[in-house]
Amino acid sequence: MLFCDIDNFKRVNDSLGHDAGDELLVALARRLESGLPDGCTAARLSGDEYVIICSDVDRVGGVEALARKVASLLRTAVPVHGQLVRVSAAIGAAVPNGSRPTGADLLRFADAAMFEAKSRGAGKVSLASAALMASADRQVHLEGQLRDALARDGLALHFQPVVGADGAVLTAEALVRWPHPDRGLLAPGVFLPVAEQGDLLRELDRWVLRTALREAARWPLQDGRPVAVAVNLAGLVPGDPDFVDSVCAAVVESGVAFDRVVLELVETALVDLPSRTRAQMAELVERGVRFAVDDFGTGYSSLARLKELPAQIVKVDRRFVSGVGNDPADLAVAKAVVDMARAMGRHCVAEGVETATQFHVLRGVGVDAYQGWLFSRAVAAREFRTLLGLGPLHVPRSR
Ligand code: C2E
Ligand code: CA
Ligand code: CA
Repeated sequence: MLFCDIDNFKRVNDSLGHDAGDELLVALARRLESGLPDGCTAARLSGDEYVIICSDVDRVGGVEALARKVASLLRTAVPVHGQLVRVSAAIGAAVPNGSRPTGADLLRFADAAMFEAKSRGAGKVSLASAALMASADRQVHLEGQLRDALARDGLALHFQPVVGADGAVLTAEALVRWPHPDRGLLAPGVFLPVAEQGDLLRELDRWVLRTALREAARWPLQDGRPVAVAVNLAGLVPGDPDFVDSVCAAVVESGVAFDRVVLELVETALVDLPSRTRAQMAELVERGVRFAVDDFGTGYSSLARLKELPAQIVKVDRRFVSGVGNDPADLAVAKAVVDMARAMGRHCVAEGVETATQFHVLRGVGVDAYQGWLFSRAVAAREFRTLLGLGPLHVPRSR
């Protein structure tokens, strides 16, 4: 079984239009049909994915020869809408081994091999090894366990404070953890990709939103002021038909005031939004909700794009924060982002502040709030409540 995925197909669709994309898909299908050896069946699975089944791979010279043949068929230049479009494809191959896999298993293994090929660049071919097949199996198993955990409240939230220059806790970011029965406490970096693969991100976001708000309803005031709660959203995002309703329902149910809610989204989820979606976000902002651009500086948009992002808060990525004390380039980037954010009336948060030097430098350039291990790691819900009860966090003195 060969799993083929066209490289950068989205770019053709985006730049030349969907009709052009369709034309390209038809042209590639014709090439496969006419160029494949006898005994092979080609099909379009969905989108820009083709699958090829070969019933006797030895007869066509072995799986590697077949994969190379298919790669060469899909590496071509096709005239569409009067333009010559160069294409290539990532190809993953899986051959049944001793364990008698089902057709669905083979498809999964070939898909995983394709994914591996893709990670090495355009036009690559990869054969599913025993290790890769085992890892694909583990992935499916993990996905099932995650689905279960979600349904049975088996995930946990940790909270990390975001503080003002005086150490007062302004906000807490909810960060999800998975207390796994055999593997201990899993970090989101381990299971979010599993959630994504299993189409569980939306449900995970809903759970986090509900749980974080419920927890925030119990927090004591800090310096006489309520502490806001920030939630990361990756599956339930603006543009989703239920977005506004889901957010409102969760907020109302918790009893937390709307102006204590921050929704963190990455840049890519905030650019080029249709006007209807922007209007929906404005509805939430009207009620007091704030949006934050997460990991700012790591996406594709230029600094000038910041003006168009519908967000009240900008979180400067840790990547730039880490060097502000000793790398003039990092400092220049951080300073430019902060200047720009302030000029546009955005509130600026620095992420991953680990040292007193970083804190002092960032305060010097005008950052409004700070998050990082210098102040506190993300801690369990109960520990966070205790932390809040102790009052503002310690701020290192300037030298
Ligand atoms: P993020 O939103 O950028 O969250 C900040 C990450 O940086 C957290 O990692 C946090 O523990 C870590 N961090 C905080 N301060 C420091 C520091 O001073 N130094 C260093 N080296 N790291 C620091 P975590 O909890 O592992 O989360 C990783 C990512 O997973 C998050 O990045 C976010 O993108 C995603 N994530 C976490 N929780 C959720 C969630 O509930 N829903 C969704 N959709 N995504 C989540
Ligand atoms: Ca975040
Ligand atoms: Ca971040």
